[in-house]
Amino acid sequence: MVTVPETISHDVVVIGSGLAGLRAVTEISRLGKGKIDVGLVSKVQLSRSHSVCAQGGTAAVLQTDNGDSFDLHAWDTVKGADFLADQDAVERFVKLAPQEILLLEHWGLPWARTEDGRVNQRPFGGHSYPRACFAADKTGFFEMAVMFDTLQRYEGITQYDEWFVTSIQRNNGFFTGVTAIEMKTGDFKVINAKAGILATGGAGRLYDFTTNSHSCTGDGMAIAYRGGVPLKDMEFVQFHPTGLVPSGILISEGARGEGGHLLNRDGERFMEKYAPEKMELAPRDITSRSVIREIQDGRGFEGPRGLHYVQLDLTHLGADTINVRLPLIREVCIKFAGVDPIEDPIPIRPTAHYTMGGIHTDIDGFTGLKGLWAAGETTSISIHGANRLGTNSTAECLVWGRIVGEHAAQHIMRGGVASKPDREGAASEEKRIYDTILGRETGEDLYPIGNELRALMDSKVGIFRTGKDIGDAAERIGELKERFSRVVVEDKSRTYNTDLTGALELENLLDIAQVTVLAANRRRESRGSHSRLDYPKRDDEKWLKHILVHYDPKKPKMSYSKVVITRWKPEERRY
Ligand SMILES: Cc1cc2nc3c(=O)[nH]c(=O)nc-3n(C[C@H](O)[C@H](O)[C@H](O)COP(=O)(O)OP(=O)(O)OC[C@H]3O[C@@H](n4cnc5c(N)ncnc54)[C@H](O)[C@@H]3O)c2cc1C
Repeated sequence: MVTVPETISHDVVVIGSGLAGLRAVTEISRLGKGKIDVGLVSKVQLSRSHSVCAQGGTAAVLQTDNGDSFDLHAWDTVKGADFLADQDAVERFVKLAPQEILLLEHWGLPWARTEDGRVNQRPFGGHSYPRACFAADKTGFFEMAVMFDTLQRYEGITQYDEWFVTSIQRNNGFFTGVTAIEMKTGDFKVINAKAGILATGGAGRLYDFTTNSHSCTGDGMAIAYRGGVPLKDMEFVQFHPTGLVPSGILISEGARGEGGHLLNRDGERFMEKYAPEKMELAPRDITSRSVIREIQDGRGFEGPRGLHYVQLDLTHLGADTINVRLPLIREVCIKFAGVDPIEDPIPIRPTAHYTMGGIHTDIDGFTGLKGLWAAGETTSISIHGANRLGTNSTAECLVWGRIVGEHAAQHIMRGGVASKPDREGAASEEKRIYDTILGRETGEDLYPIGNELRALMDSKVGIFRTGKDIGDAAERIGELKERFSRVVVEDKSRTYNTDLTGALELENLLDIAQVTVLAANRRRESRGSHSRLDYPKRDDEKWLKHILVHYDPKKPKMSYSKVVITRWKPEERRY
């Protein structure tokens, strides 16, 4: 017999307390004047959401007296995206981003300043003008702190930190809420709501060498996918050119924005060959491929565990610039690589960084399931297309956090039509987790499956891809999924059972890996971050379209959607 799980109700449930989630909640609270009842759920403590790690800055056009404009920001974004971005979304994005910078300023964000007191902006890859508003190299940390501080002004928000959401619930085509494990007690809960917002971040933990926090396991993507919302553009995974060797920790593009050089073993600034105009500030897809080419051609340095590398040299910037503008980078290099960038070049190589694809939504972040919106890295709106420009992500989280917050608030203020929760759906989810997964006594060990998955993604679905490698990966992922269906969670206790949540995260990663590989196999061209050695050219005639993958327990299904082109026709991408 199934027990009916304990139930909680809110007007809106927001899943994720990173930048997108917090911005959504502030907007709901502002518009609802504290009268809309919000539940804010996060599997980690709010201040540990990956957004606190954002380093280099947030993009917005603030000055136009230097020649910058909304059109240019939009053009840079569209060209950076290798023309796969939806241009209506991009145009909306660039116009709203500056408002967010000013709003954060009014809420108390200590932006770096120019001498005449304006918000300072540093150059970033693929941007024609310096647009990255920054607070040293801890921009995300300050943005999160300011947003959390602002939340304290509002009534009506209940925080559920360390609650792990396992599914979205639906009935009659309506979103009705989520199911979750309260990690402190291990109890299963149902949160009913008339509206929901998924702001659950990216899936960088698909890879072993990554900048992403351990929590970035794409849960919201997998949950939405299994709940009937398709995933879009999942073949596009961003590799950031400068991951610290040997850990993969990010060395912000801000370091190159401040004037850092990339050097090969012969001491050459090799970007001259690949992007003669932009040099080190070419977009990330191009720079990452260039680093790998140098290493493959024998002009890299030998690194541990096969992690061969090139160097990022900041020594010519001087101690003052490094200490004031890049203090976190210096600290990380000293602690994790034993290198002081004031004295010596930093060993770096490309590292998995950002999920361009995600939950398919319309331009308002609406998922198609009535009452459910999504924002932030978990979505594919899509403004990043096949390759995101640095600093456009935190800006996207702010802009679409606001937009989805506004839509959810209006939905509630209009009466918040909803369907009755499906009690059986929640009960069978409880059974699936506690009886099937936790209850299993013998079978497969959990951890080797995760390790094998990450190693597989690193070696077969990385920066350069081939049909053969992707096919091998697809087969192996099928085997890993089969092994997972027999997985055993050794720890049977209730309190903070991270063995159990780890298993659920791995289940999510396996689904996402399968979708990534399916889409990567289908897309027979090279565009942005998806570089196929067997199809080296971009093919607009066949592939200027998004790939959507739909869940089906037997076999995932695929469909396509149009890329919205408003003003900028695809052309050759040169930097
Ligand atoms: C090291 C690093 C540096 C970066 N620097 C920059 C930068 O300088 N500029 C820039 O624009 N971008 C940067 N990015 C990218 C940017 O920071 C992220 O894309 C963005 O912060 C993601 O925010 P988010 O709100 O979508 O998700 P996140 O901040 O990742 O938050 C996700 C939230 O969802 C919750 N969650 C997830 N799964 C569940 C679940 N199952 N149950 C309950 N809760 C769940 C988590 O607990 C968390 O609260 C950087 C990324 C990294 C990794």
